[in-house]
Amino acid sequence: MGTTSPRLKIHMFPCLSDNYGFLLHDSENKLTAVVDTPEVSAIENALAEKKWQLTHILNTHHHWDHAGGNLELKKKTGCLIIGPRAESGRIPGIDIEVGDGDTFQFGNYTARIYDTPGHTAGHIVYYFESENLAFVGDTLFAMGCGRLFEGTAEQMWNSLQKIMQWPDDTKLYCAHEYTQENGRFALTVEPHNRDLISRMSEVDRLRKKGVPTIPTTLGMEKKTNPFLRPMSGDIQASLHMQNAPLTDVFARIRQMKDNF
Ligand code: ZN
Ligand code: FE
Repeated sequence: MGTTSPRLKIHMFPCLSDNYGFLLHDSENKLTAVVDTPEVSAIENALAEKKWQLTHILNTHHHWDHAGGNLELKKKTGCLIIGPRAESGRIPGIDIEVGDGDTFQFGNYTARIYDTPGHTAGHIVYYFESENLAFVGDTLFAMGCGRLFEGTAEQMWNSLQKIMQWPDDTKLYCAHEYTQENGRFALTVEPHNRDLISRMSEVDRLRKKGVPTIPTTLGMEKKTNPFLRPMSGDIQASLHMQNAPLTDVFARIRQMKDNF
């Protein structure tokens, strides 16, 4: 004892047209997890590049671009599949079901599980408090949030408020590169937000060069993501919803984004 473990290694890589894949590696215990399975070939290439052997899949939700590669990867590697209890029937090959308040021990590292229904009924996120980072799937995006396919605005707002409890410097790994499009919408509801304006010019610069805008941080999202800002006086004013319940403001922002 007295020595500290090396940090959890994270390797991020593009999948499909706008998904990200994430490999997590515990070098002491020789464990490697992939967060979701959007594209088997891209995941296999990333594993080969890092010379890591897949041991775990951590699913956030059942959509095909998140769990579609589960069975093929399990067949090829014998990996264990961890996924949301609340939609376990829709997670191919699931071995371990987890839900709100559970922890999953990945070698030296502990993931705390939060249920974040809204995008899907059973969506979960994985928070590695010791590493100051989280995998948030399709619940939260940079300047955006997931579409409400299976949940209500109230559920999604509650889910996002769970994430907002974490420290501002928490790194958030979102599952899609939607940042530029989200930012364009954000500017329509909060055109005078200086943090948002300067972030968007930086995002435009990065995307022109094809550089990922993920991970983001919770603090940056609190300042620029309209879905975390229904309490903003400027947003409420631009929606003509001054002093409306925050859930209603959130629902209106989500509806406007759906039609953007
Ligand atoms: Zn999804
Ligand atoms: Fe997705």
